[in-house]
Amino acid sequence: MNKFEVKAFGTLAADAPLNEINIERREVLAKDIEIEIMYCGVCHSDLHTARNDWGGTVYPAIPGHEIIGKVTKVGNEVTKVKVGDIAGVGCLVDSCGTCESCKHDLEQYCLNGWTGTYNGKDKHLGTQTFGGYSQKIVVDEHFILKVPSNLNLAAVAPLLCAGITTWSPLRHWGVGKGSKVAVVGLGGLGHMAIKLAKGLGAEVTLFSRTPNKTKDALELGADAVVISTDADHMKSVTGKFDLIIDTVPYIHDINPYIATLGVSGTIVIVGYLGGLEPFLNTVPLILGRKSVAGSLIGGIAETQEMLDFCGEHNIVSEIEIIKIQDINIAYERMLKSDVRYRFVIDMTSLK
Ligand code: NAP
Ligand code: ZN
Repeated sequence: MNKFEVKAFGTLAADAPLNEINIERREVLAKDIEIEIMYCGVCHSDLHTARNDWGGTVYPAIPGHEIIGKVTKVGNEVTKVKVGDIAGVGCLVDSCGTCESCKHDLEQYCLNGWTGTYNGKDKHLGTQTFGGYSQKIVVDEHFILKVPSNLNLAAVAPLLCAGITTWSPLRHWGVGKGSKVAVVGLGGLGHMAIKLAKGLGAEVTLFSRTPNKTKDALELGADAVVISTDADHMKSVTGKFDLIIDTVPYIHDINPYIATLGVSGTIVIVGYLGGLEPFLNTVPLILGRKSVAGSLIGGIAETQEMLDFCGEHNIVSEIEIIKIQDINIAYERMLKSDVRYRFVIDMTSLK
C-alpha cells in the first residue's frame, strides 16, 4: 500500500500533553477521497480518548472527528465529489456495508464493527485510525458528507458529531411541532440539541447545574432553563417531558430527570458510558411506562439529512476558533465546562 506522511497533533500517553507527531495516510484508492483539513471541532470524546477515560486507547492517539476540508485528490471511481469541493468527515470512516445495520443506513451500529475516525482499526494500514487534528485525511467516499454552501465552514464542523449525535435521537423518537424536549448539560452536544429541537418545532428546556448559562441558553432558543441542583426547581417540571437528551460526560444521578418525564417519556443517554450510580429506580419507569435509552452518533444518510436541514434552517454551532497549539488549554477549559459552545481548530495553524 502506498503511503505518505502528514503532520498531526496528538498524544503518546494518557497523561502526556498533545504535541506535533507525524503520521501516515494511504494514497487514495479507487473510491477514496483525500481532504486537506481546514477546520476540526473539539469533542469531549477527543478528550476521553486522549486521556484513556474509556480504556482501549492506542497511542499515539490523534483525535478529531468534526472535519471540514477541501478535496485535494480523488480515486478514479469516485462520483460523490471532485477536486476543489468542500467535504465533511464525521465520526465514522468505515463499516462492513453488508450487515443488517449497514443495509439500513445505520453504519454506526455495524454488526461487524464500525471504524471510528480515530482510535478505530484501520482496515487498510493495520494501525489505529488517526483523526482530524492533522493536515490531511483519506476516506472512502461513502463516508464523506456534502456541506451546504450557505453556512460558515468553521461553524459547520461541530455538526458532524455534536449535531448528528443529538439529531439522531430527536428523529428516532419523532420530535416535531409541540414535542416537549429537555436537554441535560449545555456544552457542545447540548447547545446543538437545543438548536435542532427548536428547528424541528419542539418546546425546549435546558437542565444546567448553575444559572451561569441561562442567558446563553435562552439566546440559543431554549424556552426555559431549570437548575438541576435546585430540588424545588426540578419539582416544578415533574411529569413534563416527552424526550430528554442527557449529554453529561461523567457519572451522575439520572433518577431526578426520570421524574420530569411524562407518561411514555424517554431519557436518551448520549454522554456518559458505563454503569450508573446511584442505582436506577425502576418504580417510576414501570408506573409511567418510561424508557431509559442510549444513542450513538448517526449513520451517513442521517448525517447528510441533518446537514441539509441545517442548510435550510441556517443552523450552525456557536464556536471559538483556536490554534492547534492551544489544544491542551482547550481540554483544560472543557473539563471546567468553560466552552461556549464548541472549540474549532483552524488547521492552517499546523502548517
Ligand atoms: P462538553 O462540551 O464538555 O459538555 C458537557 C456538558 O455537561 C457541560 O457543559 C456541562 O453542562 C455538563 N456537565 C459536565 N460535567 C458534568 C457533571 N459532572 N455533572 C453534570 N453535568 C456535567 O461535552 P460534549 O462534547 O457535549 O460531549 C458530551 C458527552 O457526550 C461526552 O461524554 C462525549 O464523549 C459524549 N459523546 C457521545 C456521542 C454519542 O454518539 N453518544 C457523540 C459525541 C459525544 P452545564 O454546565 O450546563 O451543567
Ligand atoms: Zn464527538
